[in-house]
Amino acid sequence: MSAIDPVLSLIRPEILALTPYSSARKESSGGRIWLDANENPKTPAASLSSEALAKEGRLNLNRYPDPQPADLIAALAGYYGRSPENLLVTRGADECIDLLVRAFCRAGQDAVLITPPTYGMYAVSAAIQNARVVTVPLVPEKNFAVDADAVIAATTSDVKLVFLCSPNNPTGALLDRNAILRIAQTLLGRAVVVVDEAYLEFAGSPSVIAESSRLPNLVSLRTLSKAFGLAGVRCGVTLATPALIGVLQKIIAPYPIPTPVLQATLLAVSPAGLAAARASVESLKSERTRVAAALNKISTVRRVWPSDSNFILFEVPDAGKVMAAARAAGVVLRDRSRDYGLANNVRITMGTSEENNTALEAIAHV
Ligand code: PMP
Repeated sequence: MSAIDPVLSLIRPEILALTPYSSARKESSGGRIWLDANENPKTPAASLSSEALAKEGRLNLNRYPDPQPADLIAALAGYYGRSPENLLVTRGADECIDLLVRAFCRAGQDAVLITPPTYGMYAVSAAIQNARVVTVPLVPEKNFAVDADAVIAATTSDVKLVFLCSPNNPTGALLDRNAILRIAQTLLGRAVVVVDEAYLEFAGSPSVIAESSRLPNLVSLRTLSKAFGLAGVRCGVTLATPALIGVLQKIIAPYPIPTPVLQATLLAVSPAGLAAARASVESLKSERTRVAAALNKISTVRRVWPSDSNFILFEVPDAGKVMAAARAAGVVLRDRSRDYGLANNVRITMGTSEENNTALEAIAHV
């Protein structure tokens, strides 16, 4: 019999039982060409100079940073078309998922609703908080559309948060805007509808947050990890009512935006940074069109799902073989077979043209 661990025996049982999020960087190491984590292959603003910021004294690392730097908030508010009081900047959008679950869900009592197959962190944050997870699957026969009536019907009084990911990861397409708005409208006063728009720049359509004056229960999650190519910087943005932003500010860590993060994000949202990000999004969108067409021509690719994001999900007879063939060519893809309804589906992030060509060649030769 093993001795009882004097520390672990004190941990909350649901935390001991927790399966943590399995990120692309945890699952995979090595390989030359990383097309597994929906990152931008480059940082569009990388060539911009940080000298101006250094001169302004922005690099004073001996000082604690501004918790919500006013100039960053102002620039982001302009970019997202909201007022500064509608924004919270966090350590990636992931941090805000956790803040929302902690703010709305009482442990052991409240629930969140998710629509699998979807982004894994909603369920992980819920598990950490010991919040029940209600699932209403997307409909594969309708290109993974959200079933608004089913979501509304499943939102029992304990469901406080409905997570909708649009464009959805890992399937790739936008959810129907009217379906999202109908869900929010029907659930007003009952639940908050969190629309994760991490990939919205690649869809080119407006955020649902434009409707928040009539639907204040809408929250939008955005990130600088994708279109801005700053996944390593860890900066996410929450768009919500000033009242909810105020609540989230009560529970966030005191200094979530480290000074070097501020420096990189200010460059990214400067006029030159925004122009560079726009150009990067356009080139990734044209790669998406080209790669989807090329995948469709490969005889062993059974299906290419439509994408409004910087990645494409495709179905093959044997995902393991595709992963291995790509790996032999130095390319890391993401096998999504374990996700709901996605047996033998592989996800490829749009890299540079050369990287994508290497991946396509490997996939074609399985
Ligand atoms: N939402 C979705 C749908 C994502 O795919 C990701 C990252 N893979 C995130 C949120 C988290 O992004 P961040 O890097 O801003 O934490």
